[in-house]
Amino acid sequence: MLEKREFYINGKWVAPAVANDFHVINPSTEEPCAVISLGTEADTNAAVAAAKAAFPAWMATPVAERIALVEKLLEIYNRRGEDLAQAMSLEMGAPIDMSRTQQVGAGSWHLKNFLTAAKNFEFDRPLGDHAPNDRIIYEAVGVAALITPWNWPMNQITLKVGAAAIAGCTMVLKPSEQSPLNAMVFAELMDEAGFPAGVFNLVNGDGAGVGSQLSGHPDVDMVSFTGSTRAGIAISKNAADTLKKVHLELGGKGANVIFADADDKAVKRGVLHMMNNTGQSCNAPSRMLVQRPIYDQAVETAAEVANSVTVGNALDEGRHIGPVVNELQWNKIQGLIQKGIDEGARLVAGGLGRPEGFNKGYFVRPTVFADANNQMTIAREEIFGPVLTMIPFDTEEEAIEIANDTPYGLTNYVQTQDGARANRMARVLRSGMVEMNGKSRSAGSPFGGMKQSGKGREGGVWGLEDFLEVKAVGGWATE
Ligand code: NAD
Repeated sequence: MLEKREFYINGKWVAPAVANDFHVINPSTEEPCAVISLGTEADTNAAVAAAKAAFPAWMATPVAERIALVEKLLEIYNRRGEDLAQAMSLEMGAPIDMSRTQQVGAGSWHLKNFLTAAKNFEFDRPLGDHAPNDRIIYEAVGVAALITPWNWPMNQITLKVGAAAIAGCTMVLKPSEQSPLNAMVFAELMDEAGFPAGVFNLVNGDGAGVGSQLSGHPDVDMVSFTGSTRAGIAISKNAADTLKKVHLELGGKGANVIFADADDKAVKRGVLHMMNNTGQSCNAPSRMLVQRPIYDQAVETAAEVANSVTVGNALDEGRHIGPVVNELQWNKIQGLIQKGIDEGARLVAGGLGRPEGFNKGYFVRPTVFADANNQMTIAREEIFGPVLTMIPFDTEEEAIEIANDTPYGLTNYVQTQDGARANRMARVLRSGMVEMNGKSRSAGSPFGGMKQSGKGREGGVWGLEDFLEVKAVGGWATE
């Protein structure tokens, strides 16, 4: 079993102030795979103090130098991709091939996009031709606490660290206690890249401990959080006393609206998208809304596709899906599948219990419910497992009403070959992102949600701006 008790503070690996062991569980086997320490207030304070001390010099470092360090980080990140992939598969259960391509790939993608955005970003610019003595200066927010979840660990860590570093913020990362190992590899990359001591710090811990110590800390200027809506609310409340800037990337319950004229791969694509990462994506297309003329056929196809999805150990190569992250999530998903049955949705694939052949591991059967309505629990709550909910609709208006009838607003999806209708839908769906006909968003596009899916945008220019204050100067000397 790996022993990884140290934290990365002020440019060094240091022992925790108090031993506080926590076992990381391999969800494929239910066995402990590593022991880490959960930080206490003394560790949090040490990390925040290091970040605070490093801030003035880092903020004053020319942006070209900060960009050069992130370029170096990207180079090391790509070289150490296999270590990151192995860590993620072991601790959170993403199948190794998918870890190598999607989980690790997401991190390179975000770092690269930040570099492109930063090179074109005017950190210091005139207000306009009408006001030659006015200057707009984009300046780092300060010390940023970065709190990340376990489901797309490198995606979320790079989205925060890459932007904060370029913006000139110093930071304390608290990764999920469920998936700390990849974050510790990432800290090694930051160390090798040569960021000045104190710019990047990592303290392991849980939400009630290090998480809330960070969100309430008077020397933390900003919290950037990704995770559950529940924790997002708790963080917002705790951060209110010090009026910190709070960025939130929360849950979702995306609709995938499939019109009768959709391309013939639309249903299959939607099911596979739902099952990817074992359904543990905030932007999963978890409600499939299908127009009545093709509904019966869509249900049949969805069941077939779900039945063809194989399940397996995360460290095995192949195209299977892995387990869900832990026992708590497994139980939550089982409870929601039971709820779907009890509330009268029609189970057409999967169901309760482990898939055939498994008596261990947090494996879930790829599951499809048909004939649901939007008031059922499985249509309202984020399940965060490989469970799809299908709902029929008749008209475009009805589809819009169902899609928008949710407390969430992260990503919605539209499948139709009628371009005018697709664009109409894109305008009225209340979500931070809309993806149509299987096209995802391009490099530099912002990620984030409306309503209870969050506040703020990550990635590209918008991600950089999130870690920047806008300073307006009048009377700027032009000579
Ligand atoms: P969580 O929100 O509890 O944990 C995410 C991160 O926040 C972890 O680092 C955790 O330690 C920390 N945290 C938890 N409570 C905190 C608090 N009060 N103050 C500060 N930090 C806190 O999520 P989870 O328990 O890992 O997963 C539960 C549910 O969250 C899932 O079922 C899913 O619905 C949702 N989730 C969403 C996303 C997303 O990307 N939107 C990611 C992970 C989980």
